[in-house]
Amino acid sequence: MEVQHPFHSQHLLLAQAMDGHEFTSCAACAFSINGIKIGCNECDFQLHVSCANPNKCALKRNSHEHNMYYFVDDDTRRSFECDNCHEECLADEAFYRCVECDFNLHLKCIPITSVVTVTKKHLHPLTLIESVNEDNPLIQYLMDSNDKLDDLMDYYCDDCETSGNPKHHAYCCKECIYIAHVECIM
Ligand SMILES: [Zn+2]
Ligand SMILES: [Zn+2]
Ligand SMILES: [Zn+2]
Ligand SMILES: [Zn+2]
Ligand SMILES: [Zn+2]
Ligand SMILES: [Zn+2]
Repeated sequence: MEVQHPFHSQHLLLAQAMDGHEFTSCAACAFSINGIKIGCNECDFQLHVSCANPNKCALKRNSHEHNMYYFVDDDTRRSFECDNCHEECLADEAFYRCVECDFNLHLKCIPITSVVTVTKKHLHPLTLIESVNEDNPLIQYLMDSNDKLDDLMDYYCDDCETSGNPKHHAYCCKECIYIAHVECIM
């Protein structure tokens, strides 16, 4: 089955079994692929099955022609160089990556602002948090002061209403329970 994929929008991608001697690396995470690849027949582009289904929201910035996607070191096996500051995107440091053209930016180099005061999406200011989990003092505070605990544990983005990875950055309201993907607010 051929699929249209946002990481490689110019051609259709096809799931293919790799033969044992073939060595190829995934365009998204740069780690080698064994077994099944989701690849392009027209050029040298292939993805892991898991990387082809990243369940990520796209970040659209005027400064880059393609969509960019959130990556952390956990998602990759190779460090990528930031195209703004030319330093590596190191462990635990989240970055946005355009898989189509191998273009990477640290959050700080985009830049993603730490507090968003005015948006059309929410009436209160939104604060950037590094992760949505109980260790986060802000989340702890919200859990202590609210009974919407289950909503919080499930972390659904209050903007697009799809799930979010609690280990990823998000925007959060200090005045009410509101959590949203970075991509949905920027
Ligand atoms: Zn991969
Ligand atoms: Zn192609
Ligand atoms: Zn940078
Ligand atoms: Zn690009
Ligand atoms: Zn969202
Ligand atoms: Zn609020």
